[in-house]
Amino acid sequence: MVTNVDIVIVGAGPVGLVLAVCLARWGYSVKIIDNRSEPTPTGRADGIQPRSLEFLRNMGVKGDLFAFKPARVYEVAFWDPQAAGKGIGRTGTWASCPKFIDARYPFTALLHQGLIERTFIKDLEKNGTTVQRPWSIADFEKDGKDPQYPVSIRLEKVESDEVEHVRAKYLFSGEGARSSIRQKLGIQMQHKDPIAHVWGVMDGVVRTDFPDIKVRDQDSLNESATDFGFQMKCTIHSDHGSIMVIPREANMVRLYIQVASSTDKDWNPRKIVSQEEVQATAKKILAPYYIEWDRIEWYSCYPIGQGIAERYSLDHENIFLGGDACHTHSVSYKSSTIDFSSTDTFSQPKAGQGMNTAFLDAQNLAWKIHHVEAGFASKSILRTYESERKRIAENLLDFDARYAKLFSTRLPAAEEVAGAAKVTAERNDEPENEFVKTFKESCEFTSGYGVAYQPNIFNWSPEGHSASKNQVFLRYPEQTALRTGRVLIPSTVTRVTDANPTHLGKSYSASLARTNC
Ligand SMILES: Cc1cc2nc3c(=O)[nH]c(=O)nc-3n(C[C@H](O)[C@H](O)[C@H](O)COP(=O)(O)OP(=O)(O)OC[C@H]3O[C@@H](n4cnc5c(N)ncnc54)[C@H](O)[C@@H]3O)c2cc1C
Repeated sequence: MVTNVDIVIVGAGPVGLVLAVCLARWGYSVKIIDNRSEPTPTGRADGIQPRSLEFLRNMGVKGDLFAFKPARVYEVAFWDPQAAGKGIGRTGTWASCPKFIDARYPFTALLHQGLIERTFIKDLEKNGTTVQRPWSIADFEKDGKDPQYPVSIRLEKVESDEVEHVRAKYLFSGEGARSSIRQKLGIQMQHKDPIAHVWGVMDGVVRTDFPDIKVRDQDSLNESATDFGFQMKCTIHSDHGSIMVIPREANMVRLYIQVASSTDKDWNPRKIVSQEEVQATAKKILAPYYIEWDRIEWYSCYPIGQGIAERYSLDHENIFLGGDACHTHSVSYKSSTIDFSSTDTFSQPKAGQGMNTAFLDAQNLAWKIHHVEAGFASKSILRTYESERKRIAENLLDFDARYAKLFSTRLPAAEEVAGAAKVTAERNDEPENEFVKTFKESCEFTSGYGVAYQPNIFNWSPEGHSASKNQVFLRYPEQTALRTGRVLIPSTVTRVTDANPTHLGKSYSASLARTNC
């Protein structure tokens, strides 16, 4: 028997789930499968950026996510070597999402990927859709035998003889970095520079006297992170290497530790470092402070590298890819412990952007499919999914490569941070050093407000369109930073009707919000 559905989504990671949630809410029939028997159990992505928080709030799922009590990072602290072998000392801080961005949620929420996936799964179930597990895609073909459902798909249950035949209007690969659909379509990944650094990442509960890691006692675990006090992200540069410290939910802390670099004499990009070696390195870096682990939830070791798919679609009509299937910011090839499948391949960003980018890939494709299927627009608008999102991924990869290098080779010195903050605050045009520039860009990128689409059928521009056809848009009004192709300027405005200060993003509902569906 063959079943007809609107869309088959392969992969229930962040990109597949957001696409499924959007389309299921609009009433489309969605078949979403995943070859794992459960959502991500531990580790992986953990940082939800300010722009994504706004998006998730407008989707109506932020409350469910915050029920997991994520850590909130408003500030980054810098630690550098002190003179005469005295270990490290704190040399500066900066806002993780500076005031000039005026974000509605000016912080990063830290929560492990599995909890984020579960929130979307719960929402999907409310709309009558469940993730079919453990199922995989065996084969597919756009044979056009049924013009309404042109894609024929064969699904198979993992480690079973059970198969299903489905016809769909759309097929989407949200399979992550090793997308089988991408491979079958012969779409190549274009890789950027060779891998130049190897990092270890470890999630766990620690005991330490390092002042920027706040360890809660058991009694305070039910308090929200904000009740508890500050939670800092730290970048630590020492004579023994570099660490990034990221607070997590449930009293955990994540440590990213550089374990090898192409400048090492014995450089090996496939170097595997054990959990114990990474812990020993962390202890040396944090001296004169001590650190001990009560529990390690997840550990992985990965080289940094970037890749992007040459295309995001077979034909811009029926078969599409998104998320890590299209862009990876580095690859994890080995984990030494807990809950990690050796078949996993990840994107791992020093800039913490893979999942956040995946959300917006899905949202971009979802509303376009809806416009086509609801008869509001012609199928040709689907072409803009690739042109808009691929360019964002390219920018992100360029940025990520620079950012990763910055963290891997040399962490910023305090005086540079102070310089960056000053330049940012004054918004002047003084010449900037490379770090200041990267810092400023990183604020926009890492907050998620740096996404800017090029002129196209949706985005008018003075350069790209003839003024005579667009009399209403002869030019951008002076004194405004509002631009087509960008999110509305994040800003707090005064509501004319009652003089209430309100964030602009709150004044319009996303068409995806539960209440509007
Ligand atoms: C240590 C680490 C830290 C990270 N931190 C951050 C962060 O702070 N912020 C951030 O934004 N990103 C972060 N990332 C990156 C983030 O995890 C990925 O970018 C994100 O998960 C991509 O989502 P996705 O849905 O495209 O792919 P995935 O999350 O990889 O999901 C793919 C899904 O498809 C399934 N699948 C694969 N093949 C098949 C198949 N043939 N059939 C059926 N199912 C299949 C898999 O089981 C999986 O569930 C981090 C990654 C790592 C490793």
